[in-house]
Amino acid sequence: MKDRIYTDAEMGNVVLRKNIRSRRVSIRVHPVRGVTVTLPYFVPYAEAIRFLRSKKEWVMEVMERQKSASGGAVILSPEEVEALRREAKKYLPGRLAVLAARYGFSYGRLAVKNNRSNWGSCSSKGNINLNLRLMQVPEHLRDYVILHELCHLRHHDHGPAFHALLEQLCTDCFGLQCTAASRSRFPVSRALEKELRTYRLL
Ligand SMILES: [Zn+2]
Repeated sequence: MKDRIYTDAEMGNVVLRKNIRSRRVSIRVHPVRGVTVTLPYFVPYAEAIRFLRSKKEWVMEVMERQKSASGGAVILSPEEVEALRREAKKYLPGRLAVLAARYGFSYGRLAVKNNRSNWGSCSSKGNINLNLRLMQVPEHLRDYVILHELCHLRHHDHGPAFHALLEQLCTDCFGLQCTAASRSRFPVSRALEKELRTYRLL
């Protein structure tokens, strides 16, 4: 039997699923798939919805706990990932091309990735990967990640030469916005790195 969807303002889309082996109504809350109510064949959907509503407080508590366990990062559904991917593919190639041209870099190809390990990377062949979740951070941090990867075209490590170049580009790009005094040798890029760390990949 096909699942039914019940939409609640706070719980989101709840899947109502009849199960032949089920003997009572039960509720599951999953960090990615959301809320699912399983019910026996002999129980009407309306009764399962009543049951769900009576447990709403508990469901909201579990959702809240799962959210804080993920460090406040929003867990994306597959549909949300696809929407972000479309947005990223529209935006990132042009932005990368603009910044590369401005600072005289040439790169191989750009791939838009969805991973939890990095915001971007640069291969030894000069190909650049950018995370589609960059579409969820402010524009200046997106530029910061792009500049970071562009600098890897010249320096394949995180050594002093790499940091000096990145600082130079960041100062040119964002210098006026980062006026905070810092004892770091690379105050502008360090401030951006720190800000980026407040966004978690998940
Ligand atoms: Zn790097």
